[in-house]
Formats: sequence, structure tokens, C-alpha cells
Amino acid sequence: MKVGIEIHQRLDAGKLFCNCPSVPAEGDGASIYRRQRAVAGELGKIDAAAAQEFVRKRQFLYEAPMNASCLVESDDEPPHDMNPTAIDIAVEICLLLEAKVVDEVQVMRKTVIDGSNTGGFQRTSIVGLDGKLRTSRGEVGIPVICIEEESSGILGEEGGAAKFCLDRLGMPLIEIATDPTIVDGEHAQEVAEKLGGILRTTGKVQRGIGTIRQDLNVSTEGGARVEIKGAQELKLIGKMVENEARRQKTLMGIREELEKRFGGKVDFGYQAVDLTTIFENTGSKLFKGAIGKGHRIFGMRMPKFKGLLGTEVGEGRRFGTELSDYAKMNAGVAGIMHSDEDLSKYGISEKEAREAEMKLSLE
Ligand SMILES: [Zn+2]
Repeated sequence: MKVGIEIHQRLDAGKLFCNCPSVPAEGDGASIYRRQRAVAGELGKIDAAAAQEFVRKRQFLYEAPMNASCLVESDDEPPHDMNPTAIDIAVEICLLLEAKVVDEVQVMRKTVIDGSNTGGFQRTSIVGLDGKLRTSRGEVGIPVICIEEESSGILGEEGGAAKFCLDRLGMPLIEIATDPTIVDGEHAQEVAEKLGGILRTTGKVQRGIGTIRQDLNVSTEGGARVEIKGAQELKLIGKMVENEARRQKTLMGIREELEKRFGGKVDFGYQAVDLTTIFENTGSKLFKGAIGKGHRIFGMRMPKFKGLLGTEVGEGRRFGTELSDYAKMNAGVAGIMHSDEDLSKYGISEKEAREAEMKLSLE
């Protein structure tokens, strides 16, 4: 197993590119509507994701509180010089992590298309390289330490626009990424705690909920590399790593079993079939509601999968849940149910289930 941790910690300093304090919104402010337009970057190319977002013509609404934002946050004034206090704290953290501090801090930009940054990009700078953390199980490398600006926090949707508040935008963050030499959950826990301890000993980092975020990269042998985003509870890091490892191991076991059943490569050559007519007079509230909205019900045969969909891959998660999440994300369906489940809990009658099965086996 290989695990890497990436920590984002807010520094206890004013904003990175203006003179605003890093405090929550309070009192009066302005509301600003914006659209973002995709433009070519330094290499003359338009970012594909940005272009797609532009096509969606997304509108953004920014709340700009007077006490915690100025024209820099709303992208109406060029950024000022980088906050020297924030750089000092970042350098101190680099030294504590035995990293080489760079000769010159260069500001780069990362495209951000979700509106959380008014400029359409996030500014980030490398401060230290090749750091390390000593642990009970050997050294863990820290290849890069960056200082970057926090995004604005999303408040929700208003009149078709995504609504953000600019109080958080531009607060200084330090980003510490380890190399993937962490060996298991317990080790990940130790690394996270040690890094957290080093950050706090400076006495110059913000404390409290939301001021530290940790992303985990977990990969097991033969499995995929999975990123777990935004872990805020330090105490749970070890458990999250173990759960993810268990999930990947179980999924690989299912793959092996399927390869055995298929006698080699898993061939899934069946098409989805429209079953809506079977459920026209259904007693299932779920289906009735969906059909009433003009949605359709599709079915698919899954030969040789019998008994596998109910396999537990984690706490309260089954293989069926994994497939369902994947289908929701990639095919836009509202959800999936399968015949290894008790279909009566969805109000589907035995007769309907039989008819569906028959129609599918004829295709
Ligand atoms: Zn400002």
C-alpha cells in the first residue's frame, strides 16, 4: 500500500495579495454578478474544462463584505506584493521540515473554473523543496511546500447563480504534500499528527474548524489510486486510509471472482432495455413519481454477477452502491437497484419483477 497526504493549513496572517484581514464577513457589503469567459493561457491554448464551463454560461454572485474584502478580491484591482508575514511563516515551516527554501518566490496560476475564484485562477508559489519528516517507520519525504490563496466559500444557489462570499478568498494557505511512502493507516495517522504538531508549534496558523484540510491519496497493489478529499478530522485519517484499502481489496476480489466466472476477460456485452411500460400502473411510489416526471426505467441483464452486488466493500457500502454511484455520476441516472436486493422494499411487485426479467432475457 502507498499513501500520500496533502495538507492545506490557513496561516494566521492577513490576506496574501492585499491588505485585508483574514476574518469572517461582518456588516455591510456589495453584491456582484459575474460571468467568466474562457481565454487563452500563456501557451496560447484555451483550457478545455474552462471552455466547457463557459459554454454552460454559468452565472456567479459574489458577496463582497467591506470588512474582509477589497477590489483585489473582486478582481477589479491588480494583486499587491505578496504578504511578507505570510512568506515568513511559510519559510519557518519549510525550515522545520528541513526543506530547501527557494531563492525567489515565483507566483504561478492554476485554472479554477467553478467560480470559487473571481479571477478564474488560483495563485500559488513554491517556497520549499525536498523536505522531510522523521517518523517511527522511517523518513517521509516532503517534495514540495507551497503558499497559495484560499478560494471563496460557496454559500449556495440564488436565482440560477452560484453564490460565494469573498471573505475567505485570498487568505494565505500553506500546502504541504508528502511523497507516497506512508505504509498504512497507522503510519498516515502518525504523519498527519506530526505535521499538525509542527504547524501549531509555529503559533502562526489559524485554529478551528475549516482552517486545516487534508487530502489523502491511497493506492493498493493492483488497485487504483484514489484521492479522498477534504478530511478535516485529524483523528480519523488512519481509519479512512484503512477503510479505503479494504474497499480496494474487496473490489479486486470481486474482479478476480468475475474473471473466474467469465473464464478470463469480463465481457459485459448487454445493452440497457427500456422497461417503462411494465411499470405504467405500478404501486411503487419511487417509479410512479419518476414516470410522472417523464423519466424512464431501464433494465440490464448482468449474467454471472449473482450474489456479488450485495458484497460489502465498506461500512454501509456494497458493490451495488459503488455501481450506483458510478452510474449516477457518469450516466446521469437517478439510481440503480438490482435483483439481489429485496425489490419489494421499493414497492415493486413480484409480477413486475418477473415481467422485467422476461423482457430482458428476450433481448
Ligand atoms: Zn482585499
